[in-house]
Amino acid sequence: MTGKTILVLGGGLAGITAASALRRLCGPDHRVVVIERRAKFSLHMANLWLMTGERRQAAEGERDLAHLAKHGIEWVQAQIEAIDPIARTVRTGAGVLEGDYLIIALGADRHAEAIPGFAETALDLYTPQGAVRIREAVETFSGGRVVVLVARTPFSCPSAPYEAAFLVESMLRRRGVRAQCDISVYTPEDLPMPVAGAEVGKELVRMLDDRGIGFHAEQIVMKIDPAARVARFELEDARFDLLIGVPPHRAPAPVRSARLTDASGWVPVDASSLRTRHPGVYAIGDATSIRLPVGMFLPKAGVFADEQARVVAENIAAEIAGDEPRSRFNGHGFCYIEVGDDMAAYGAGNFYAVPAPSVTLEPASRRFCEEKHEIERAAQVLWR
Ligand SMILES: Cc1cc2nc3c(=O)[nH]c(=O)nc-3n(C[C@H](O)[C@H](O)[C@H](O)COP(=O)(O)OP(=O)(O)OC[C@H]3O[C@@H](n4cnc5c(N)ncnc54)[C@H](O)[C@@H]3O)c2cc1C
Repeated sequence: MTGKTILVLGGGLAGITAASALRRLCGPDHRVVVIERRAKFSLHMANLWLMTGERRQAAEGERDLAHLAKHGIEWVQAQIEAIDPIARTVRTGAGVLEGDYLIIALGADRHAEAIPGFAETALDLYTPQGAVRIREAVETFSGGRVVVLVARTPFSCPSAPYEAAFLVESMLRRRGVRAQCDISVYTPEDLPMPVAGAEVGKELVRMLDDRGIGFHAEQIVMKIDPAARVARFELEDARFDLLIGVPPHRAPAPVRSARLTDASGWVPVDASSLRTRHPGVYAIGDATSIRLPVGMFLPKAGVFADEQARVVAENIAAEIAGDEPRSRFNGHGFCYIEVGDDMAAYGAGNFYAVPAPSVTLEPASRRFCEEKHEIERAAQVLWR
């Protein structure tokens, strides 16, 4: 058996999980190569802790990708410029690489510039720098209107903007200025986390309401007026003193230009094997679109990215070993929804259930909040 080369495009959660599983499952004659532009790995969920001040610096949760070499994983630090899914080649700033297998794990690009005024006005929850700026703003906020704005769907982690609203509410309450503040969420969604079903969505609206947080559904922002401090929607305006934003997402440029995307704007894959239409080419994580029986798409979340990565790694390893690839992604997932005061609710279920996802939400507890932190610790296992 000749040695195979598996190119993992992207060294975020999905890419690193796939690479480490492959390294464990494939013998040393096979190369596992991660192509990633950043030098550090971290989990986006830590942005919320940067926002609350539980974590003071982004560097605390970051790990050096150079460390991968110790585990027999090659890392090419480079910008991926083009992908040829037929030839299975990848053009990067560091040259062209050729693989027997490609695993596309490039996540989602954020493009704040798609909404006029967004980039210069909204504090971006989806970058560590933005999360720190939110904390600094909340720490000195003495009263006024806080708006949490979801610009477009789909976006990564359907619970994150709601968690941000809950956490900001608890931060302002602890500072003793909550009574002087109005907090609202504006979103294009009809309910929070709509794929999880109406029961979960309505319960989240109740939880927002219990804390005096407004919920404004089906609001599509057209532009933001930085001078007037107003977000302009199709039908109404929302004035703000502090704007916390989730920018529009889109598939990364090399994925789009390789024509790997479909009308959804994302990479369609087989729901259980994560194969694309090109032999030997897989896509996992936020870059993908998986249409569910209910007609909506599987949410973009780390819990799915992680499991998809394991499935693809097991199947590639099996195929290389001459065995039948048997691993299947089954659409099960869970999430912890932080609500402040060291508490989190817990949603879990089968997103592949027919005719609609079957998801339940358990009330907030300290235990769930601790479990969420444990997930980050477990994800760091490669760096021990
Ligand atoms: C604030 C926040 C909180 C979240 N909380 C949770 C949570 O509690 N639970 C949960 O399940 N999920 C959560 N998520 C979602 C989760 O982080 C994502 O679903 C997950 O990171 C997706 O993994 P991925 O590997 O597909 O993308 P990413 O982790 O984003 O990795 C993509 C990688 O590709 C690299 N890349 C992209 N383009 C190029 C290029 N052209 N060249 C080279 N490299 C490139 C990027 O630098 C990046 O490292 C959260 C997300 C956010 C933003």
